[in-house]
Amino acid sequence: MPYKFSFDMSRVSKSIFRGFARAAYEKNMHRKVGRNMRDLAEKLKICELTGLDISDASMLVEDLVDLYVRNLIEKEKFLKTKRRALFLSHCSRKYMDHRCQARFDPKVPSYYCAQCSPDCLINRATALGKERGCDVYVLPGGTCIPQILEKTPYEGIVGVACSQELKEGGEYLKSKNLPGQAVFLVKNGCANTRFNIKSLEKILRK
Ligand code: SF4
Ligand code: SF4
Repeated sequence: MPYKFSFDMSRVSKSIFRGFARAAYEKNMHRKVGRNMRDLAEKLKICELTGLDISDASMLVEDLVDLYVRNLIEKEKFLKTKRRALFLSHCSRKYMDHRCQARFDPKVPSYYCAQCSPDCLINRATALGKERGCDVYVLPGGTCIPQILEKTPYEGIVGVACSQELKEGGEYLKSKNLPGQAVFLVKNGCANTRFNIKSLEKILRK
């Protein structure tokens, strides 16, 4: 489910998030710091940079810190995996209309990028994923994940999506005892969304 609000976090400092999440993880206190999310949102100037009100900004910060912490918790197990899938969100395609040449296979279900635009994030992420040995899927929604995992027994999953979709997908993977690593969208909105390709590269390097 998407958020009820739109955001663009491109200008927000990721290093502060990472530092906060790591500190929370090391002190095993990320569950206790909910009340501090408002403070962190204020420190990061999220309201000024994104136009969100403080309660939406706090919710977003809480979700993102949770995702960072989950990545840290699952990292060791993920590193031991060999057969991996990369799930990309279709909303980061350069075009969401007929100009996107991707083929959709309903039997999978997934889009497959046809590389029509070198500057398309999905094109770049697909190439990166393949280069690092992953099977790459461009998903129209999180409900495709169980169908794909039923067909192929992957050991590890990398997911790129908005933080709400990642939260739901993470719960599903947990129920299947599958380690995952997540890259969240820095701009949501279900079209023309963006994520940090360097974050994906870093995860796939593992
Ligand atoms: S590069 Fe791939 S995903 Fe991007 S618009 Fe073209 S076909 Fe679609
Ligand atoms: S922002 Fe993208 S990943 Fe999130 S719900 Fe919308 S389409 Fe799905």
